Amino acid sequence: MPETFFIETWGCQMNELDSQRIAGSLRLRGYRRVDDERDASLILLNTCSIREKSEHKVFSRLGELRELKRETGARIGVCGCVAQQEGEHLIERAPWVDFVMGPGNVGNVDAVLDGERRVAVDFPEHRQYDLLAIDRGSPTKAWVTIIEGCNKNCTFCIVPTTRGREVSRPFGDVLAEVRAAVDSGRVEIELLGQTVNAYRCPASSRDFGTLLSAVAEIGGVRRLRFMTSHPAEVNDSMIAAMGDHANISRYLHLPVQSGSSKVLRRMKRLYTREKYLETLDRIRQAIPEIHFSTDIIVGFPGESEDDFQQTLSLIEEVRYGSLFAFKYSPRPGTPAVRIGEPVEDAIATDRLTRLFELHERIKRERLESYRGRVLPVLVEGPSKHDPSMLSGRTDDNWVVNFVADPATPLGSMLGVRIDDALHHTLRGEATT
Ligand code: SAM
Repeated sequence: MPETFFIETWGCQMNELDSQRIAGSLRLRGYRRVDDERDASLILLNTCSIREKSEHKVFSRLGELRELKRETGARIGVCGCVAQQEGEHLIERAPWVDFVMGPGNVGNVDAVLDGERRVAVDFPEHRQYDLLAIDRGSPTKAWVTIIEGCNKNCTFCIVPTTRGREVSRPFGDVLAEVRAAVDSGRVEIELLGQTVNAYRCPASSRDFGTLLSAVAEIGGVRRLRFMTSHPAEVNDSMIAAMGDHANISRYLHLPVQSGSSKVLRRMKRLYTREKYLETLDRIRQAIPEIHFSTDIIVGFPGESEDDFQQTLSLIEEVRYGSLFAFKYSPRPGTPAVRIGEPVEDAIATDRLTRLFELHERIKRERLESYRGRVLPVLVEGPSKHDPSMLSGRTDDNWVVNFVADPATPLGSMLGVRIDDALHHTLRGEATT
């Protein structure tokens, strides 16, 4: 009987890509992927610990898997950021777990599978990265890591602990991976890193803007995206690359976290409100129709109503198209835990509600402004809600569901006339 595996992934795109890499390595070892955990001889949880809630989910899931293990005898491995954070302690807490493997060891699955290591939570200097063994989920899109880890040490954030110090991949390796992805039919490339724009080639010091241009110029890359940029790392070279290449998406996720300079200083975000807005202005001058999105934390220790009002006024001013907001969640070992008076949960909840109400109105107005326009859309597949329609994204990253010839090849670029704006998405009909 061939070995089978089931993998469940929580969290960010980097975790999704880590799961694709683990799945690729397992296939090379002869494992077959299954969609039902009851059919698996190996069950992997690739976990997230960015907020306390995500971490709790992992432990309650492990409780369920304990029962399943009794029935089927499957091996259980915990990967990702909870694995890194808890290490040995995770096995003490859940002794039915067979191994724990952190993000630094994704390229080294063999060691845990062969039983050489039960707890693999170091960050080896030379990390294995098999670019041909990635089980890419989409036929049209490929994620490509360019930098791992984070050196920023924001006072609220667990990422530097769970993903280690920044390590950029060599320029040539990134280009080789993009070429291999394009050769396999992936026309959309998304470059990934916790602070993607801090990229520096370890051999030549070439920066993120230079890499962005080089990737955009590879034949067959129809659309190029990247995630997540840090506002303090935006520079002229990055802005010029975005302005000079029509295939680089006019969408930029630029987490601000708060609109109050006082809170930003205590978060150690390395910019003020004014500096952040100035950065956005520079980008808008080069790429006038850019769609900005952001992340915001409400209820950071010591956040006053006045600080929060400044966050609301910043949202009004920037008019973000998309926004992800979270209540502050204390993370073990991070300095924010000791930084100021905790904000009562009811107050933080109320702030989050008010923030979403404001953003709903802005998003609605923005989506409505697309009515009647014909936009280039990259076809990704059938629409989730109505399989008779196709679905894709605009150059500035809005999802569009549209009527078109169902035989349209995935990955094509079509002109779509926008007829309607729904809650989060646009709707239309292909004109080409
Ligand atoms: N590296 C990116 C950055 O900081 O610019 C994003 C990393 S994180 C995966 C995504 C978002 O989670 C952050 O931008 C932040 O808004 C949120 N986040 C991180 N730590 C948090 C915490 N302790 N409580 C609440 N939200 C948090």
